[in-house]
Order: sequence, then structure tokens, then C-alpha cells
Amino acid sequence: MDGATKTEEIPAAGHQWNEKATVDQAATCESAGSQSIHCAVCDARKEGTEEEIPATGHKWNTEATVDKAATCEATGIKSIHCKVCGAIQEGTEEDLPALGHKWSEWTVSKEATYDMEGEEQRICANDPSHVETRVIEKKVKSAEESEPQTPPQTESQSSEKPETQASTQPETQSQEEPERSPSLKPKRRSLPKQKGNQMFL
Ligand SMILES: [Zn+2]
Ligand SMILES: [Zn+2]
Ligand SMILES: [Zn+2]
Repeated sequence: MDGATKTEEIPAAGHQWNEKATVDQAATCESAGSQSIHCAVCDARKEGTEEEIPATGHKWNTEATVDKAATCEATGIKSIHCKVCGAIQEGTEEDLPALGHKWSEWTVSKEATYDMEGEEQRICANDPSHVETRVIEKKVKSAEESEPQTPPQTESQSSEKPETQASTQPETQSQEEPERSPSLKPKRRSLPKQKGNQMFL
């Protein structure tokens, strides 16, 4: 217990208090902060020196901030914000009217043919993901090109065309039938064919 290491009671040097207070907690727009005198050496706080720092209050911008941009089809919102903390000033929210699409001219994206409908589209200048498309009717053959049996292709082309083709085809094909498709009409041709077999042998 008499060891040299036991107690070396060096007298305390004493804190060296700063002259200026140190901010312990900064005030914000809405809440008070605090400050106190600290020791320059060990940063201890000096008792009884703590002071409140009053809340600063919001500092409102003069111009409104867009909270939600208006789109072609949806309204947006703007409001007055605090330039320090960004809080929205009560009662300042306003709707921004929807922009409406800004359509380009229609451009052909797929040419129509005699057999296939085409497509044209227009694109919104506000948002290129807004694309409208519409069908281009099939090309109609001019009078010289068209077959005699297909006069009015304007109204009911889809329903009429197959019928006219069906009615015309048997007539034209009937002449070729004996050569082309004997196997398809075995019943009709069976008798003459059997006679033909004799010739075949
Ligand atoms: Zn100290
Ligand atoms: Zn604020
Ligand atoms: Zn649009």
C-alpha cells in the first residue's frame, strides 16, 4: 500500500473555460437549441451556463415550388416552401392544370399494302412515351388493276371478298381438275379413272 504507483495526486490544473458559448444543439426552424460554455482543454460543460437558442422560424420562399409536376393528363401541385428546411407553408398549395398532349403530325410507321393494314402514329412532345396509333386502311386497287368481280371495296370488303373469290375459283379451276387433283375427287372420277387404268396398263 505504500507503493509509488498508488496515488500521485497531481493538483488539478482546472478547466480553461472558453469565453464564447458552444452550440450543443442547433436551433431549427421549429425547435429551440441550446448552448453552453465549454472547457477549451477537455470540452466539459460549465455548469449553469446552458442557454436556450430560440427556434429560428421558417424562412419562406417568395416563389412557389412545384411539388408534383402536371402531366398531360393529370394536374400537379405547387406550394411555398421554407428555404431552410423545405417545410410547406400551410394554405399555399395550388393545383397546376394538366398540360394536355402536344401531338406531332401523324407519321406512317407501317405502310399499308393490298393485303395488310398499315399503321401511323403521332408522338406527344411533352412525353415521348405518349404515342397514339391508328390504322391505315388496306390499299385499294385502282380500276385498271382490280379484278372485274370486285367493284366496291369501300364498305364491306372483309365480308364480301372471300365470297367472291370462293364463287369464282371453282369455275376457273374446274377445267384443270382432271389434271391437278384427281385424288381429291375420287368419287366423281372413279368410273372414268378405272377406264383410264386400262390405258395405263
Ligand atoms: Zn477541462
Ligand atoms: Zn423551415
Ligand atoms: Zn402527352
